[in-house]
Amino acid sequence: MAENAKYFAGLDIGGTTVKTVLIDESGDLAGEMVEVRSHVKDGYVATFGQLELALDQLTSTIGISRDQVRGIGMDVPAPSSDGVIWAQANLAADWVGTNIRDLFSRRLEGVPVYMTNDGNAAALGEYAVRKKHHGGLLLVAPGTGLGGGLVLPGGRAYEGQNGLALEVGHVSVPHREETGELPRCSCGLTGCLEAWVSLVALRRRVGVELAKPENAGHLLNDASTLEEKAFRLRDFAKAGDSLAVSIFRQQARILGYGLADLVRVFDPGLVVIGGGLAETTGFRDQYLEWVMEGFKERAWPVYLRSPIEPEKETTQFEWATGGDSSAALGVAFSAREMFG
Ligand SMILES: [Zn+2]
Repeated sequence: MAENAKYFAGLDIGGTTVKTVLIDESGDLAGEMVEVRSHVKDGYVATFGQLELALDQLTSTIGISRDQVRGIGMDVPAPSSDGVIWAQANLAADWVGTNIRDLFSRRLEGVPVYMTNDGNAAALGEYAVRKKHHGGLLLVAPGTGLGGGLVLPGGRAYEGQNGLALEVGHVSVPHREETGELPRCSCGLTGCLEAWVSLVALRRRVGVELAKPENAGHLLNDASTLEEKAFRLRDFAKAGDSLAVSIFRQQARILGYGLADLVRVFDPGLVVIGGGLAETTGFRDQYLEWVMEGFKERAWPVYLRSPIEPEKETTQFEWATGGDSSAALGVAFSAREMFG
């Protein structure tokens, strides 16, 4: 292997594990290491030690020296602005207010570091695995919350002036509860998209529906907690249970409403849906169909078909394809793009 060959690393720092990849100059995967404990709860210094160890192990496994690593991309499970994390849910308190990006770069003797949040990294990962795709890409990922990221044509994440862009979960959607109220969101506002389409929203919905007299005899009432009920809802939906189907269908359609607005603003060309919520239901195709139903209800026809070439779809919808290392791969690609 040429001693002057350049490599770029991607470090995906999660709440519990770190995933590390190395790519070469042409963007091919040179090595990967998954599932190293992240130690994020012990503070950033402990995590830096883990990251360095992972990097050293990976470079020695593929037989290159560490100074051949010319740039690093890293993503953190928190919002950040210009290398500084400004809020933390999954990290120890000392991560906040510190320039993590610059400190890590200094620790590695000045190797340049690109840092972003996990939503952008996931979107970059989806971009990286679609080697033939060069247009834009909007990722939305319903899970505990609703994550998102936008990759511009050419492959850079759009992060906004201050790194605060793409809070897709907190755009408002034109939908109300049967009582006429707007649901309260984890951010403190009401009527946010996340308050309809997340796992938390799913649990709330299950609670509301099962409390109705006509659903008193539903078998889901046998489960003791709301978590358990929401979990079992997936199997009921797969089996065609009408209550379970209607709950998922409503969620998916409202996600489609939100996407209609996001597509009107960004015109990404490709919308990728990821996240754990629908992935594990085992009916991704059905869920996607319902998302499209909602999208078509609110999107102008030009966002479905080209006004000039009617054969051409202007917005395509796909499922996330990236595996475990996709976010790490995404930030490694960004590092290559920026520092290569
Ligand atoms: Zn919100």
